[in-house]
Amino acid sequence: MSSTPNPYRLLRNVIPSAYRIFLTPDLDAATFAGRVEIDVAISDANHSFTLHAIELELGAASVSVAGATLRSNEPTFDETYQTATFSFEDPLPTGEATIEIAFTGILNDQLHGFYRSTFVDAAGATHTIATTQFEHSDARRAFPCWDEPSFKATYQVNLTVPSHLAAYSNSNELVRTDLGNGQCTISYAPTMRMSTYLVAFIVGPFEQTDALDVDGTPLRIVYPVGKGHLADLALEAGAFALRFFSDYFAIPYPGDKLDMIAIPDFAFGAMENLGAVTYRETALLVDPATASLTEMQRVATVVAHEIAHMWFGDLVTMEWWEGIWLNEAFATFMEVLCTNALRPQWKMWVDFGVDRDAALQVDGLHSTRPIEYDVISPDDTRGMFDILTYQKGGSVLRMLEQYLGEETFRDGIRYYLRKHSYANTVTTDLWDALEETSGQPVRDLMNTWILQGGHPLVTLEDGVLRQQPFAYGTARGESSIGSAWMIPVLTRSLDGATVSRHLLTDQPITVTDDPPVIVNAGGSGVFRSRYGANDLAAIAHRIGELEELERATLIADSWALLFAGQIAWSAFLDIARGLGSQDEPTPWGTVATAIDLVHRALLEHQRGALVDVVRELFAPQFARLGWDELPGESELAPQLRAIVLGTLGTLGGDESIRAEAIRRFEANELPGDLARAILRIVATQNRPGDYEIFLERFRHAPNPQEEQRYQWGLADFADRAIALDVAEKCFSEFRSQDASVELGLLSRNATTGPAVWRYFTKRWDEIVERFPRSSQPRLALGVPTFIGDEAFADEVEAFHIAHPMGGDQRTVVQQIERMRVGLAFAAALRQQF
Ligand SMILES: [Zn+2]
Repeated sequence: MSSTPNPYRLLRNVIPSAYRIFLTPDLDAATFAGRVEIDVAISDANHSFTLHAIELELGAASVSVAGATLRSNEPTFDETYQTATFSFEDPLPTGEATIEIAFTGILNDQLHGFYRSTFVDAAGATHTIATTQFEHSDARRAFPCWDEPSFKATYQVNLTVPSHLAAYSNSNELVRTDLGNGQCTISYAPTMRMSTYLVAFIVGPFEQTDALDVDGTPLRIVYPVGKGHLADLALEAGAFALRFFSDYFAIPYPGDKLDMIAIPDFAFGAMENLGAVTYRETALLVDPATASLTEMQRVATVVAHEIAHMWFGDLVTMEWWEGIWLNEAFATFMEVLCTNALRPQWKMWVDFGVDRDAALQVDGLHSTRPIEYDVISPDDTRGMFDILTYQKGGSVLRMLEQYLGEETFRDGIRYYLRKHSYANTVTTDLWDALEETSGQPVRDLMNTWILQGGHPLVTLEDGVLRQQPFAYGTARGESSIGSAWMIPVLTRSLDGATVSRHLLTDQPITVTDDPPVIVNAGGSGVFRSRYGANDLAAIAHRIGELEELERATLIADSWALLFAGQIAWSAFLDIARGLGSQDEPTPWGTVATAIDLVHRALLEHQRGALVDVVRELFAPQFARLGWDELPGESELAPQLRAIVLGTLGTLGGDESIRAEAIRRFEANELPGDLARAILRIVATQNRPGDYEIFLERFRHAPNPQEEQRYQWGLADFADRAIALDVAEKCFSEFRSQDASVELGLLSRNATTGPAVWRYFTKRWDEIVERFPRSSQPRLALGVPTFIGDEAFADEVEAFHIAHPMGGDQRTVVQQIERMRVGLAFAAALRQQF
């Protein structure tokens, strides 16, 4: 909290309590006309009031107050603060009043505000949809409003639309009036008190499943015409999550119905509009018969994430945008908890270890950030929607839950949600609630994790635990990595299951478990671990005896220490060898990722030695797993099979695997789990005609997952002309929602990446104007892989510093720093081969 008023925030002299919104979209003309009535309380006698509006044409406002109606002058606009001010000749009387404003606007194609999306059906006909995306500050593009999360109000929406189209909003349809001209007006029930960013309206040629009654809440999946056969998993996961969270939070679902709606053009993964959650198609619609496990998990976790928000976010909401991290971190934590209950065999907490590791890879850079920071302008909010909010934030909550105990943590959450229902909170309200239920110093502890960047390295040497900040290299300028944390450290003897709980501060702690001791027992701590030589030797030979997440964490920490130059390649390799025949995808995935970067780092003549390592580690796995499902294998085995095949068929240079991959590709026999690996092997062979087949299958894919596999697979061809052709399609054929990711993936290609990076940076102005802003940081996906050429690295850095991305620029700066760390890593590694 700052004492200077934030100029981006509205005065609180007029406070809205209820909106009645009337909208008539014209999908063909891409415009809309509307009118809004807002019940407000006026607290001071003012000659004017100011609310948010941008890209809207507004008429004068009329204010009905104390039996009279006052009419304003024409509004004046402020582009910087995105506001409209209505002034009056006489001061407005204080008290209850109703404001009425008529307006018109455009259905934009920027995937924010009230926007237009199109799709082509199976028969080749093009259809248009009008839909909304208001988080974080874009309701103001659809209707004039107090567009800040703390101005909670009710919303009664009325849509006038062509009668043959379907329409949805946050709550149940109350009345449908046929206007006799092919149009009808649909009136929806008023919502609960909530923030503007959660309002939604969607119009278009949709179909829907029958409503499933989930303990009184009707649940439907809504999809573009013809895709109903892809809705089963979302319906199952949605019903499960509604019951799971009603029970976990001990509060009934706060809406009157729940629609989950697939939108063909969508900038994010999904959006938690109360009762009308919108999704990117790949996050909602899936064919379980042909999808990979990862693709199924995506649907289940995104559905759980959004439904968790109905309580945590929608019912209880952050007071201002600096609190959005908690909203997202909590929903991320809950998506794993819920999906783990839905499908225990998926071992979601082990899988989440990969996400945490990815977050720590960013958080070990000096350009990291504290999880929570001051947000002044809405643009500052952009930088919050990143891996440090979702994955690091979610991991920190999981660490706290494991330290406090699952039931104590849950009781604190229940208390917090009950206390703040229909209201707004700041982050410390949650810590205080957890402190009350647990008796632990939660606020002090959590402040060390959220108010400073970075994370610790916890060392165990001769029975003593110590912490120091973890960093990948030395800072070139100032560093955002903090100095000391209050760390919940769980330890146990490798020979016993009893867990010891420690709160490690800057003072060392002696552990009394029998050696060898596992640091980060259970694997939920948000830190890197390092063992003294004796402890490591004792553990390295018994890696098979660790729990799964402990094992995955040990491998990930070892890779981080190698990349940071703190251990040698040979030490990493010893630990990787210790995996033996463990058939878990997570640690092997880390090894495969490490080998890919090592391959990029080495000089051509050194790579033969690496190929030997690849074969030594992965060939025994292939001998065991083969190509096809084995009787009685686990649901996760196909994920490991894909990692093994993909690595041997590309970097491993295994000709028989390549031949079989090509045979299966030509026969179009691509089971979901192996599809990406097979496509990668095929693309890297650069056979004439395969590119055209990829494109053909992309264009006529029977479901969103297959479409995406081929689209992302296009980035794997090791041919410059193909790579540039795919890059060009990001500006012509592909949906703008996918363009930044595709270009990012293309630039990660070891052969053609630099050429693609040079291509798209020449078209930067078009990118800035046409691609959704929230997706643009993905363009820098390839930057950390540019570790072979100092001069090119300089060129990349100079360009991105000269072309900043506003609130998202920190993400790009982090990628540049990781590239610099990679260059140092490469130089050191070449000395070791
Ligand atoms: Zn979320």
